Order: sequence, then C-alpha cells, then structure tokens
Amino acid sequence: MADFPIVDGHLDLAENVTLFGRDLTLSAHERRAVEDGALGSATVSLPDLVRGGIAVVCATVTPGFLAADVGEDFEPRSAIYHRREEAEAQALAQIALYETWERQGLVRILRTAEDLENHLGRWHQDRRPGLVLLMEGADPILHVRDLADWWGRGLRMIGLTYGDTFYGRGVAGGSTTFTRGGLTPEGFALLEAMAQQGFIWDVSHLTEDGIREGLERGFPRICASHANAQALMPTDRHLSDSNLGAIAERDGVIGLVLYNRFLEPGWKSDRTIEVTLGEHLRRHADHVARVTGWEHVGIGSDLDGGFGLESSPAEIDTVADLWMIETAVPATAREGVLGGNWLRFLRRTLPPQ
Ligand SMILES: [Zn+2]
Repeated sequence: MADFPIVDGHLDLAENVTLFGRDLTLSAHERRAVEDGALGSATVSLPDLVRGGIAVVCATVTPGFLAADVGEDFEPRSAIYHRREEAEAQALAQIALYETWERQGLVRILRTAEDLENHLGRWHQDRRPGLVLLMEGADPILHVRDLADWWGRGLRMIGLTYGDTFYGRGVAGGSTTFTRGGLTPEGFALLEAMAQQGFIWDVSHLTEDGIREGLERGFPRICASHANAQALMPTDRHLSDSNLGAIAERDGVIGLVLYNRFLEPGWKSDRTIEVTLGEHLRRHADHVARVTGWEHVGIGSDLDGGFGLESSPAEIDTVADLWMIETAVPATAREGVLGGNWLRFLRRTLPPQ
C-alpha cells in the first residue's frame, strides 16, 4: 500500500446515504452481506477510505436526479426531483450529513488551504479522510446571489451540469452521443460569480461548447473531477484533446474514472473483455499524460457512483485498492497521480485561510 496520501477527486458519499439508504459507516464487505445488490456490490465506505489511505476526497453534493433525465419510474422515487427547490433541499441534506460525520469524528471537512495542511499533518496519525465538498449539477443553487451562502456551508467546487440544468447543457453518465449547446445566460452569470467568490469549476458533465465558453472567459480554477479521454471513448462525457490541453495550461487536474464502461467501449457487449487497471486505465492515463504531462493526471474514481464492483476494473475490490493504480502509471508519476497532483491543485485553489 502507498505510504503517502492518496486523493480521490470524485466520490458520491452522501448521495449513497441520503438517496439510496446505504450506511457508509459499515465496510463495503459488511454491506454486501446486507444490501440487496440492486445498486451493484458495494465498494466504498468510510472504513475502507481509512484502510486504503485515502487522505482527501472531493465528496459530492448532488441534487438527486431530474425526472426528465431518468424517467418517472426511476427507483427509488425519492431520488427524483421536478423542481429546483427539491434539488436545493436534497443538497442541503447531504451537506448536513457531512457535517454530522465531522462532528462524529469520522471525517474532516476542508474549507481552506490551511485546513488542508493541518489535516495532512494529523492524517498521518489518525487516517481520517478529509473532504472537499463538490456540487455535481448546480440546480440546487436557486439564485446566483445564493452562492455566498453555499460558500459559507463549506462548498468549494461546482460542476454546472449533470444532465441539462438551469445553467447549461449537460452530458449525463450513459451518453454515447455529442450534445450541442453550452451555458445558459444564468450559467454565464453563475460562473462569473463563482470566479469572484473563489470557487473551483469542475467541467465534468458539461458539453464541449460549455467548457469552451467558460475557458474563453478565463475562469481561474479549473479541473475535471471525473472524466476520461474522449479519443478513446467517443462521447463528450469525456474530454477532447483540446480541452485536456486547456485544463493543463491552467494548471488543472483530470481525475480518471474507474467505471468499466468509461474505460473500454466494448465492455459488456463483448463478454470476453476483462477491464483492468493495468491495460485499460493505463491507455487512458497514457493518452491524457501525452496531451497534458503526468503532473495533471489524477484519480476521480467515481466508485459506487451509479455502478458497483461488477462494473469496476478487475484489480478493484473496494476503494481501499486505489493504490493499485500505481500499476497503470510510470514509477516516476506514481506519487503525483495517486495524490500529489490533486494536492498541488487544492493548495493553489482553496482559499488560503
Ligand atoms: Zn458524475
């Protein structure tokens, strides 16, 4: 196992509790014994983050699922929203859960670069995961003027879209096509206010046009918390070489996703394909690094983000196995990809104090 802090740029921790009724204080193995498997076999839990030396997680705050995206028969029904007020309530419930975990001594919420440094010092003793709160799909932000309140609650990173939102055209998880269109007028206004307030912009799930529009306006703190190489996965859910290059130019980081479907287009339709870190993740990592340099490559595993063990690379049993990503990258890049690159990014982009 790695002897340095590992960083995962994207995990849906709270959503698994508030929307899907899972208990993340039980290990993934314990939960496999009690869950019905409808979400796929569990791979992520707080004890597994501790065991795996995952020091920092960008932990999502989500609106639930827009009925227009997933259909009225989506299960559980309580995960669907029709109006943005419902999305706001859901996101606030998820933040409240992270705050409860913090009070219980299970996590530390990282709001500043100073928090991050203090956390890393203490992490070597207690191995408690630090969380940077990341909103995935900005429908919960009812008005641009609410941004300061969300900042006050500890939110530091925002992705404007998942599917389409009030703020722009999105590319949801399963998309295999290219979507035209970008930011709405409200999206431009939100991005501008985010830049002023100090937020980090996560471009994952935004269309090519939307990313270009934001880049043209010179947004200062950019990353892709979870996306792979479009050159190997032909959908705009993943990043074109030009957007990869633009993120690297602005010293951003790209977190690679460990969903088999996002690593190998033929997975599942061709049952002979076994997706592995050593072969399939390596291809994406090599491609991204060729465009950006290794210092911009990180992890954004998204494990248990709508898929489970059965759809994750063969080497992964639980999130505690993230260190095995070292088998997919050159030795000289190992420490950076596993955590150092995200730490450098967060030190620069979180507010100093
Ligand atoms: Zn996502």
